[in-house]
Amino acid sequence: MIKTDAVIVGAGPVGLFAVFELGILGLNAHVIDNLDKAGGQCIELYPDKPIYDIPAVPECTGESLTQNLLKQIKPFKTNLHFNQRVEKLEKDNDNWLVTTSDKHKFQTPNIIIAAGVGSFEPRKPPIKNIERFEKTNLFYAVKDKNKFKDQTVCIFGGGDSALDWTVELSKIAKKIILIHRRDEFRAAQHTVSLAKDLEKKGKVEILTSYQPLDFKGDKEINQILIKHDNGDQKELKVDCVLAFFGLKMELGPIANWGLDLESKSLKVNTINFETNEKGIFAIGDICTYPGKLKLILSGFHEGALCAQECFKRARPDEKYVFRFTTSSSDIHKRLGVKND
Ligand code: FAD
Repeated sequence: MIKTDAVIVGAGPVGLFAVFELGILGLNAHVIDNLDKAGGQCIELYPDKPIYDIPAVPECTGESLTQNLLKQIKPFKTNLHFNQRVEKLEKDNDNWLVTTSDKHKFQTPNIIIAAGVGSFEPRKPPIKNIERFEKTNLFYAVKDKNKFKDQTVCIFGGGDSALDWTVELSKIAKKIILIHRRDEFRAAQHTVSLAKDLEKKGKVEILTSYQPLDFKGDKEINQILIKHDNGDQKELKVDCVLAFFGLKMELGPIANWGLDLESKSLKVNTINFETNEKGIFAIGDICTYPGKLKLILSGFHEGALCAQECFKRARPDEKYVFRFTTSSSDIHKRLGVKND
């Protein structure tokens, strides 16, 4: 069990900036995200698109905004936990207990939900009872690439994830079979060329215009059945399957936490962005109140205000004093700023 001043659900831009606002008040935080990296929508949906409405930053991209936010919170040595979803919140006297899908547990007086439009969830292949393979050899992300060492790995998909992992895992796998439903790949041209070179060397087999029909096996997939657009079917022996069919956004477990919802958003007050539960806050795209704008800058403001209430709950015996970052030696110490 990890004890912390705050747990932040979601490592999107708003969750990351909340780490900063907590950090300058001397509070530590653990951030949990279902994705394998920070940045939320900015990284997953539009990493290269220019953003023009971040104050004092005339132009940046989803990627550069995320990198700068990560740089800004570096002094606080925050723990970021990826590839896991926050599943359960339970009351524990004045604290909350948070449990993730990886069974990690946190005890905290403050939960900040910065979950955007919900967690990014993998789109699954249209195979009946597919869940029975998810505990064994069907994966939607690579958490530990050593799992694929000396294996015959079947990779489904035609985007960057499918092609990047085809190239990367070909270094350790026995064989990679890359299957895509179209003839053309959507991934970066350079990676597509690398995969095609590996095909010539016999390290990768590429099958295009094929779709999955069935995964065979009891608890583990040992054979897959695929169908070509022309009707031909093929059976292939595999040791494991990686499916990269893109992501969808789902509110998921947040809907079951007993919090007041309005059209899939969490209702908050605008004094400290607390929900109907003491110590549970919602900021960024997930929250709603009269006049709410789903913009990154609104989420930054919401994070600053909710951090003050988090301080009061995490340090009930200390007096909260408002300070500017320019002139507070405490804040400078926390940021590692050296004053002459
Ligand atoms: P998100 O960025 O959605 O991040 C939420 C994170 O929480 C996700 O990573 C998700 O996986 C995670 N999560 C959710 N539930 C759970 C759970 N139970 N457990 C673990 N993790 C969970 N805004 C602007 O201000 N300017 C723009 O120019 C702009 N352009 C945009 C262009 C596009 C194409 C899109 C789609 C959006 C744009 N936006 C823009 C909106 C902006 O991206 C969002 O307002 C912003 O991303 C919201 O940030 P957030 O941190 O609240 O949520």
